[in-house]
Amino acid sequence: MKKYNFGAGPSILPQEVMKATADACVEFGDMGLSLMEISHRTKEFQAVMDEAQALFKELLDIPEGYSVLFVGGGASLEFCMVPYNLLEKKAAYLNTGVWAKKALKEAKLFGEVVEVASSADANYTFIPKDYEIPADADYFHITTNNTIYGTELRQDLDSPVPLVADMSSDIFSRPVDVSKYGLIYGGAQKNLSMAGVTFVIVKDELLGHVSRTIPTMLDYRTHVDKGSMFNTPPVVPIYCALQNLKWIKAQGGVKEMERRAHERADLLYAEIDRNPLFKGTAAKEDRSLMNICFVMADEYKELEADFLKFAQSKGMQGVKGHRSVGGFRASCYNAMPLEGVQALVDCMKEFEDLHKKA
Ligand SMILES: *Cc1c(COP(=O)(O)O)cnc(C)c1O
Repeated sequence: MKKYNFGAGPSILPQEVMKATADACVEFGDMGLSLMEISHRTKEFQAVMDEAQALFKELLDIPEGYSVLFVGGGASLEFCMVPYNLLEKKAAYLNTGVWAKKALKEAKLFGEVVEVASSADANYTFIPKDYEIPADADYFHITTNNTIYGTELRQDLDSPVPLVADMSSDIFSRPVDVSKYGLIYGGAQKNLSMAGVTFVIVKDELLGHVSRTIPTMLDYRTHVDKGSMFNTPPVVPIYCALQNLKWIKAQGGVKEMERRAHERADLLYAEIDRNPLFKGTAAKEDRSLMNICFVMADEYKELEADFLKFAQSKGMQGVKGHRSVGGFRASCYNAMPLEGVQALVDCMKEFEDLHKKA
């Protein structure tokens, strides 16, 4: 049976990306050695790093004056590195979910933090829009896609202070106007690569302005100066990212990724809204194209476990919602084919035929 992976992360990658990465783990190019056993200082690996950074910049049309870094630690370490490097007195955060809240918590270790708005009281079902960004903040932090709650901010905001964004789960799903951001980061394992590497896009002129001493490994300048080669970088995840970046380019780039994301999301949300057994959880105007969250309609609540079992029996993997939302979450990252979403929609229709009350 064909399986479709709707898991939120680590998540689906194109078959050819996984295949090329697996091949390189056995034999890298014509070196007669595995990618896993060669030095990161070889010219062969340096070429991988250079091409990955160049393609990253090309696909997102990143302007001059920004560096692309590949580091370890996950997005979670960035929650701490961002304030370590940028927070002198005060930072502003938009609280749109569990990840945003974790980022905010870390920032409090370094200075004053203003929560400009929060949708916590509504279980993060929407993204607040009415708020003021303090003009004296060192930066304003947002989470563009709230992986757990299925809300997404797809515009590049205007901010009077440097804008910092966690784009872990929607990077490369749309064109981004990078010039509006001071820093963008994310774990790779949602829409870029396998777990183990973290990407950071940083505007160089933002660095070096805080008065505290920053430990070497946590200082972005170390990684900018050394081209992400200060210490041994996660070579296999970086190679995997490069394969995926090549795949995105071959498909038509981020514009095409955006078109496909809309196509998939339109199909699934239309079924959620039509099918009387289900209902969406996020405010319509803030619905994520990446993580599509839904639950059983009230009068069908008792069927939740049955639907999960039914969907799984049809090859739908990872559609269980996060425990803080319940229900279902279909993650539709770049590599999810439209036919996967169609298969899930067919499954929902079939389930309706079996269980719809008269
Ligand atoms: C998954 C996720 C994280 C955490 O990433 P790690 O790499 O596991 O630390 C942070 N932010 C968002 C938006 C995520 O989806």
